Amino acid sequence: MRILEYRAPDTLEEALEFLAQHGPEARISAGGTALTILLKEGLIHAARLVSLERLGLDYVTWQNGALHVGAMTSLQILADHPVVSERVPILAEVLKQVASRRIRNVATLGGNVCWAEAASDPPAVLVLLDAEVTIRSARGERRVRMRDLFLDYFTTTLESDEIMTEIKVSPPSPGSGVSYIKFTPQSKADKPVLGVAALARPAENGACAEARVVVGAAGPAPLALPDADSEARGQAIDGGVLERLAERYAGAAQPVSDSRGSESYKRDMIRVLVPRALRQAWARGGELHD
Ligand SMILES: Cc1cc2nc3c(=O)[nH]c(=O)nc-3n(C[C@H](O)[C@H](O)[C@H](O)COP(=O)(O)OP(=O)(O)OC[C@H]3O[C@@H](n4cnc5c(N)ncnc54)[C@H](O)[C@@H]3O)c2cc1C
Repeated sequence: MRILEYRAPDTLEEALEFLAQHGPEARISAGGTALTILLKEGLIHAARLVSLERLGLDYVTWQNGALHVGAMTSLQILADHPVVSERVPILAEVLKQVASRRIRNVATLGGNVCWAEAASDPPAVLVLLDAEVTIRSARGERRVRMRDLFLDYFTTTLESDEIMTEIKVSPPSPGSGVSYIKFTPQSKADKPVLGVAALARPAENGACAEARVVVGAAGPAPLALPDADSEARGQAIDGGVLERLAERYAGAAQPVSDSRGSESYKRDMIRVLVPRALRQAWARGGELHD
């Protein structure tokens, strides 16, 4: 299919109007790092493209105790941003592990999230931190928690006339440690075979006040099991607790066999990585207590 029309509007309203008119046959272009390859290979089709580059959606601000990131902010700008490093350093840590600097210079956070590729790094930590996105259309505005956004492989709750405008990320609660382990046996710039994000907060008596895990790239959407996490509360973070939690995640994940590992290998790696990520988070939380 040929592209009949390319638009780069100057206002969000114009872009939303365009989508309201052409929704299903139009595609949004952000950085284009995923979109361009797929269009070129004929794997997706779009008669019309609308670029978000002139809408002023590239910003990073700190307001009311949370980080507000315009959806068009590039991954590299975010990774290097002093407010991100100071307020939510785990986000900068994760973003620096995405692809290569050349890709990060162009790829946007909104594009990464909206593309909803399972083998992706940022979604696991964004779900862990209970991030929220703002979505606009000519019909109005809605806010969605990141954990409710992903429906399936490459599928979110976004409709064809909607634009994600902002991602809001709150920092972890005081005293928490957070970690992310990207597992890829090939180059570091490769997409994750698995990505495990973990948060742990020690109580004053040394027991676990809070533990949370999100396993990414092991199924259609980032996997969080709040009921399993809550069983760690009040316990000492030792081998038994970590093994039980890891077993719950390994059992619930839906990894698929592919050229980068069999399903059972990936489940085994979840058993290894969940305790490792939680131990790392626990150590970081402990540091904050000292
Ligand atoms: C070589 C290579 C290596 C990579 N390695 C990694 C990796 O290690 N880890 C990782 O996590 N990712 C990796 N990626 C994926 C990369 O992160 C994504 O391609 C990128 O983030 C997509 O962002 P973009 O701005 O380029 O989106 P685009 O390609 O422009 O858009 C992607 C999709 O999202 C839609 N979209 C974009 N923005 C919006 C919006 N604001 N509202 C609604 N819909 C929107 C588009 O219509 C399109 O369907 C890699 C990609 C490449 C090419």
